[in-house]
Amino acid sequence: MLAVRWHNRRDVRLDEVDLELPLSAGMVEAEVRFCGICGSDVGEYAHGPFAIRPGRTHRLSGQEPPVTLGHEFSARITAVGPGVTEVAVGDRVAADACWRCGVCAACRSGQYNLCPSSGSIGLCSDGAFAPLVRFPAYAAIPLSDDVSDEAGALLEPLAVGLHALDRGGARAGERVVVLGYGPIGATTAAVGAAMGLDVTVSEPHPGRRARAEAAGHAVIAPSGTPREVAKHVRETVGEVRLVVDASGVPAALEAAPDMTVRGGTIVLVGLPKTPPAIDPARQLVLYERTLVASLGYAHDLERVAAMIAAGALDAEALITRRVGLEDVPGELERLATDPGDDLKVLAEVG
Ligand SMILES: [Zn+2]
Ligand SMILES: [Zn+2]
Repeated sequence: MLAVRWHNRRDVRLDEVDLELPLSAGMVEAEVRFCGICGSDVGEYAHGPFAIRPGRTHRLSGQEPPVTLGHEFSARITAVGPGVTEVAVGDRVAADACWRCGVCAACRSGQYNLCPSSGSIGLCSDGAFAPLVRFPAYAAIPLSDDVSDEAGALLEPLAVGLHALDRGGARAGERVVVLGYGPIGATTAAVGAAMGLDVTVSEPHPGRRARAEAAGHAVIAPSGTPREVAKHVRETVGEVRLVVDASGVPAALEAAPDMTVRGGTIVLVGLPKTPPAIDPARQLVLYERTLVASLGYAHDLERVAAMIAAGALDAEALITRRVGLEDVPGELERLATDPGDDLKVLAEVG
């Protein structure tokens, strides 16, 4: 079968491959329907390797690069390994992409995203930019009839947004400012609105601002120094307890604490490209603000699926482009060079 394989930075190929992982105990095989291109796929292509470890065999998956990319997917189960009871052949599923050991302190506490052995399907094992994928049965998230295959492929990035809001202690009715309207800013804002938060998006790119407006969010475009930006937010948005930084821009995080009230919380879900210059004394301690990091998700995909099934969250509205499997390498290059106002690019695989 043809698969989109990461070989090295700037070297992603369409290769003819066989399934590498065995259908061993606890594993499932599935026919891929849709798979989204993630910012981390673009990052591994353009600037990696980060999570991909050339020359190293992953402790849980047993695989080493080159690896088939793709971890945001929906699929239909075609075979199950010995002992699998979670799903059966024919089930429609999405995947919680996190490999985990299941026995460490983090896993036992439910925070498997912090498992020291963790790794992502599509980075530490072959992923879903291929007609067939094999992954652990515990990662399968069954989809109800109310969740389409397209929406199923969006559960993973939406779960990242939900996890970030949870990390900030978001409560229905309160205001949240989301910095950046890329794929993760967009999923965070969408989940926030579905949770009943009063969402304001801050985004400098006009095309992305238009996308945020079309999604029904309040939108601002402050400019200037970080202190000027924070002042603008306080004056236009009002009192803000919670800011989620999904921008990846160091200056955004430098401004974020000053946007919040005393006792405010700043959640960092983007990866700043260089270390930001935050003054912990002035910006955090003197106002007892909290700066929290958010990594991936843990038990969040099921909750996102329930929001979609209940009609509270329109996942498909985040899809701005559909491509074929063979287009994925070119899309990685385009998204690395100039993503324009694209939010989620989805490959129709099968
Ligand atoms: Zn992702
Ligand atoms: Zn573990």
